[in-house]
Amino acid sequence: MTQDQLPFNRPYMTGKELYYIAEAHFGGRLAGDGPFTKRCHAWLQERLKSPQALLTHSCTAALDMSALLMDIRPGDEIIMPSFTFVSTANAFALRGGTPVFVDIRPDTLNLDERLLEEAVTPKTRAIVPMHYAGVACEMDAISSIARRCGLLVVEDAAQGLLASYRGRPLGSLGDLAALSFHETKNIISGEGGALLVNNPRFARQAEIVREKGTDRGRFFRGEVDKYTWQSVGSSFLPGELIAAFLWAQLEEADRINSRRLASWNYYHQLLEPLERLGILRRPMVPDHCRHNAHIYYILLAPETDRDLVLRKLREKGIGAVFHYVPLHSSPAGLRFGRAGGSLDRTEDLSARLIRLPLWVAITEEQIERVVAAVGESTTGRSGGW
Ligand SMILES: *Cc1c(COP(=O)(O)O)cnc(C)c1O
Repeated sequence: MTQDQLPFNRPYMTGKELYYIAEAHFGGRLAGDGPFTKRCHAWLQERLKSPQALLTHSCTAALDMSALLMDIRPGDEIIMPSFTFVSTANAFALRGGTPVFVDIRPDTLNLDERLLEEAVTPKTRAIVPMHYAGVACEMDAISSIARRCGLLVVEDAAQGLLASYRGRPLGSLGDLAALSFHETKNIISGEGGALLVNNPRFARQAEIVREKGTDRGRFFRGEVDKYTWQSVGSSFLPGELIAAFLWAQLEEADRINSRRLASWNYYHQLLEPLERLGILRRPMVPDHCRHNAHIYYILLAPETDRDLVLRKLREKGIGAVFHYVPLHSSPAGLRFGRAGGSLDRTEDLSARLIRLPLWVAITEEQIERVVAAVGESTTGRSGGW
């Protein structure tokens, strides 16, 4: 008999999405920056303590906007981890910039702030920390290096909604920050994202870049009597149907994250014996970071064959996956980027990582089944470990 498949992710819907979409439909206002977009902006600004939030089509689009706003040009260097999603690097490569890849910390798998200074050159323009699994990077150290070297900081906070660093929300700590509402994230709108503009220097230009290079935003506020082409830009704003969907999710954001946290904590508790045996290592969250349970991952012992473990888990119907193929070793990473020092830890850790199924309504029985399968696939024994 084949067991039920446990998928890696199941998008969670609150039940109010269609209601708000209907409201937008009957309101007859479908283009971007309507009432639902404004509600989402106000919520993000208040909760993330950011002066300006702008919805975008995706986190990728928000990162693309960042590179445009910073006027990245060929030859400019941008320091970032290699252990991250493609978009972190692609946004800057798209403008001719060179991603410079720095190694990660062994505990959080975040950009190692102790290695940043030696990667800085006269061509460096910015540092792009990515808060892996919603656990904050060491932002105090990163910000102080950036200040000392005259660099901008762009947070890739795709995974970090409602997580915090020393009590400060992720997304409020860089000059700019990018969020994602992709179906696989905690709070979703299918595709979707936001740019948080924390440095007032970019405030006006961010609106222009997002509205096809025009001052349309100022026109609608009555600040100018016509709008015209001001600079290069593109269309980065989502329509109201997406914003209506997102609003239903933001209203429930705290409840969604606390349900995920309960599942994350249950995994953490059940996997402790396997960690004690040296079979795997569980995620580490520093005391001064509050995470949002975006990912539950395990790191297998170095001698374990990950492909074999993944195959066994899939045979048991468990949708476990791995990531990331380090960017410095990918075809485009080799072409557009370069290493800013040794990337040994990135290579070692990314090759041992497995992400376990986690979604809002996953049950305790399902988590127990995943943990039993992990134990069996790694020790060869069923239980008793
Ligand atoms: C998901 C993700 C992105 C991309 O988000 P999209 O909204 O799909 O563009 C970028 N960076 C990181 C770290 C991510 O996890």
